[in-house]
Amino acid sequence: LIAYLNGQFAPLDELSVPVLDRGFLFGDGVYEMIPVYSRCVFRLDEHLQRLARSLAQVEITNPYTLAQWRALVHDLVARQPFEDQSVYLQVTRGVAYPRNHAFPKPIVLPTVFAFCDPLEMPPPQHYTQGVAAVTTRDLRWQRCDIKAISLLANVLAKQEAVNAQAAETILLRDGKMIEGAASNIFIVQNGVLYAPQTSELMLAGITYDLVIELAQLHEMPLVLGDVSEAMLREADEVWLTSSSKEILPIVTLDGRSVGNGQVGPIYQQMLQIYQTYKATVMRR
Ligand code: PMP
Repeated sequence: LIAYLNGQFAPLDELSVPVLDRGFLFGDGVYEMIPVYSRCVFRLDEHLQRLARSLAQVEITNPYTLAQWRALVHDLVARQPFEDQSVYLQVTRGVAYPRNHAFPKPIVLPTVFAFCDPLEMPPPQHYTQGVAAVTTRDLRWQRCDIKAISLLANVLAKQEAVNAQAAETILLRDGKMIEGAASNIFIVQNGVLYAPQTSELMLAGITYDLVIELAQLHEMPLVLGDVSEAMLREADEVWLTSSSKEILPIVTLDGRSVGNGQVGPIYQQMLQIYQTYKATVMRR
């Protein structure tokens, strides 16, 4: 596995970062995860734009131009021995001494780290039979729109799913469904697709955006707005979306069946649309 650190390519297991890196000490950095199918990087510019936005929001100077990021990702992808990959990009505020919460002065170079893993998609039966999810209180901060590497609350939430032998934990805040620990959530009620509107309390997923775009293109009834916990519990269908899982149906929530407990028809329609779209962009 060839990885990238601050301008150099090297085997992943030979790379290390100084302990004074602010990513290590403060979780002071941002990241992206981008899927690659048959060496075709999916929605690269959307991910790079979100990375640029995350960096700007936390006032880390973007170390590269869009063209440089594109070249780096394509170079890294070309160096791997496998076709389907997930690219991880991370930028931290860099290495600084003494340890101090405030930004280093004078500013230091950000640390840029990137590597590729073989893409691990969920097994086919997760798409045909659905997965389980649990709910928990959203303990995160109020800028979840920034894709920050400080993920402690997400880590704890995801572990609740693992402990319950479920695939995902859905986060609830003030009686509203926000998103998953590492995914966005859609629900279907009476044939209408609902999802939370983007806000500072959730990450605007690249997959979320694409599902909304495809729903609009195909004139599926869609409402973006608050989704209450009650709506979630009464939904006919619940889906999760993320770059690593695409769209997965959730058929059990906190141990109870979602709708009739089967994978729903609107889900099947959207999965079909999504797969067709993916095949089209990859042929280009
Ligand atoms: N929300 C959170 C908290 C996430 O970690 C992720 C996955 N990175 C998502 C949503 C889904 O985003 P995307 O579709 O861009 O992978």
